[in-house]
Amino acid sequence: MSEPVIATIALAGNPNAGKTTLFNALTGSRQHVGNYPGITVEKKEGYVDTPAGLTRVVDLPGTYSLTAYSQEELVARDFLIHERPQGVINVLDATSLERNLYLTVQFLEIGIPVTVALNMVDALEAKGMTIDSQRLASLMNVPVVRTVARSDKGVREALDAAMNHPQKVWQPLHISYGPDLDPVLQEMTDLIKERNFLTQTYPPRWLALKFLENDLVVRQLFEADSELHRNMRDMADDVARHCEKTLKTQPEFIVADYRYGYISSILRQGVLTIQPDLQGRADLSDKIDSVLTHQLAGPTIMLCVLYGLFSVTFAIGQVPMGWVESFFEWLSALAMHMPGGLARSLIVDGIIAGVGGVLGFVPLILIMFLGITFLEDSGYMARMAYMLDRVFRIFGLHGSSVVPFIISGGIPGGCAVPGVMAARTLRSPKEKLATLLTAPFMVCGAKVPVFILLAAAFFPGHGARVMFLITLAGWAAALVVAKLLRSSVIRGPSTPFVMELPPYRMPTAIGMVLHTWERGWQYIKKAGTVILAISILIWAMMTFPALSVEVAAPIEAQIESLETRLASEPVEEIRLALHNDISEFSLRLKEETLANSLAGRMGRAIEPVTAWAGFDWRTNISLVGGIAAKEVIVSTLATAHALSDDQTQSFSERIASAPGWNTSVAVSLMIFVLLYSPCFVTVVAIAREASWAWAAFSVVFNTSFAFALAVAAYQLGMRMGW
Ligand code: GDP
Ligand code: MG
Repeated sequence: MSEPVIATIALAGNPNAGKTTLFNALTGSRQHVGNYPGITVEKKEGYVDTPAGLTRVVDLPGTYSLTAYSQEELVARDFLIHERPQGVINVLDATSLERNLYLTVQFLEIGIPVTVALNMVDALEAKGMTIDSQRLASLMNVPVVRTVARSDKGVREALDAAMNHPQKVWQPLHISYGPDLDPVLQEMTDLIKERNFLTQTYPPRWLALKFLENDLVVRQLFEADSELHRNMRDMADDVARHCEKTLKTQPEFIVADYRYGYISSILRQGVLTIQPDLQGRADLSDKIDSVLTHQLAGPTIMLCVLYGLFSVTFAIGQVPMGWVESFFEWLSALAMHMPGGLARSLIVDGIIAGVGGVLGFVPLILIMFLGITFLEDSGYMARMAYMLDRVFRIFGLHGSSVVPFIISGGIPGGCAVPGVMAARTLRSPKEKLATLLTAPFMVCGAKVPVFILLAAAFFPGHGARVMFLITLAGWAAALVVAKLLRSSVIRGPSTPFVMELPPYRMPTAIGMVLHTWERGWQYIKKAGTVILAISILIWAMMTFPALSVEVAAPIEAQIESLETRLASEPVEEIRLALHNDISEFSLRLKEETLANSLAGRMGRAIEPVTAWAGFDWRTNISLVGGIAAKEVIVSTLATAHALSDDQTQSFSERIASAPGWNTSVAVSLMIFVLLYSPCFVTVVAIAREASWAWAAFSVVFNTSFAFALAVAAYQLGMRMGW
């Protein structure tokens, strides 16, 4: 190696960007692998013949940043600063440009002449995208060379560009870090310049920036000048405190935000484009959007889509629902062969009626989930959020509140627990709180069976319409209450809406099946565990304490004597009358038992109040159980009525003909179930996202609000003669 080395060029980039591949392609066999002095980070260097002479190429360790967070970052940065290579070839993985450019910006901030090797353009094109490298070059003011290091393309051009870089001296790039940091940064820079502190080695503004970013190595450097160090530290602490107070963040995060902002402002200017055939798809999406998100047509279509979803669900769901119902009827008929007594009662009235009542809705819920998954995967859900943002703003919510609402059951069948958690994406704490507190008004999957049951019993043939109206009522309640809260307890300004509209896509069958199954399985699992346990508990509460002998014995004696008479009675008419009498007395016995039980006593105790809304003590039992889990409402009602009614009748028929039930009660109950306290798990989720005080607020407020509306509906209904 007798030729003189005319320049050193460093290769740098994120791990896996292709540095080593490029290095090998450049240097061929003329390379040398070693360690950086004193540090076990691999260092590779090699030599390349160029017309002007021999060039040394150094493969720096892969890093994402140049702050001294890791050994690799420190090595890369020290090499650049202390060895002062003539330039750096920054190898970028073009398929994740945004992340890769984060490092590029930091090279530019040090001031070293940067040449960008836009690597993996083959992979990028395979993904259907192209990069306008000219535009990138002019926007960032650096040479950009497209390379495919793996097949040796553009490799030599990249080196040539670095050797002939127009910028001969180091020129640090200054980007703005916003109104909070810029003034301090300037002050620190001036101070460093004034003291002439290490200005030969480091760009002053870079030192100040690293100090603000809390770079431990740079902070240590300053210990050499204790007065300067103290001044710098005071300024940094002041601004950190200020940022913590006003923005709830630290300077280093603000710096990162502004760097990404700088990058995205560049990328947004037409650097990345989708290829023509895929562009066609984007165009098609735009065309579809011009209709689907049209000011008037959009919302109309949205309502039709939702209505269509329910109609289809109910039409198709009927069939498999019948199968599941018959299965449980068969099961309970089978169990009736057991000898009478507590065990049979537990199995038939507790377990089979409870769990069967819930599982009966599984086919329907699966079909509904399938529809929702279709809307989500096709990209239409995002459009719904986009359209609803305009409305939401009026109510003090945010376009992003739509997602928590929809997940909670804005389209029936969701669950408020993940819905409440999805509210995390909301930046403004007040909008988030308003969303948290109103999302539980949506029609979650556990409420659906209640509405289906009541619709089938009191509005036969109008299931879809009832469901649709209930859903709208849930939304209306959420918006009105949000407005109420946002203009009283959680007053504050609203924040702007940014949302990507993904291109429309035909959902894949496998994706839909998987998503649907995930959601459905959650429901089934709950039926098997929580609901089974609560069903048994409620059955026990409905059975014990047992009826006292004084009360039970006379009725039992009556039944017995009627049965003996029936056994010897030959006349058909009298037999029939006796039969009726027997069922009447058995019914009375069961009712007395239930009324005497713990649950019955509790239900009865609050009956004077709940009667205003038309709820009897049986309904009360189920509603209290519903606070534990809404699924329990139907199963408890089923159990309560199974205890006092004919097994073979379908449940909705039984409810429809049960004493004390009418259309007004049904409407009042639907309203109450829609709006009252969130279930226990949701309450815990709200507490975790906000506080226990807000969680308690949601229990008390929602229940009172629901009760007031239920009373109004019932009283109005009764007066109208429903
Ligand atoms: P380094 O971590 O930056 O040194 O990255 P490597 O050079 O080890 O490359 C990482 C992976 O990317 C390897 O599997 C390479 O084969 C692959 N690779 C490198 N350059 C290209 C390229 O231009 N196109 C494609 N498709 N793959 C590449
Ligand atoms: Mg490597």
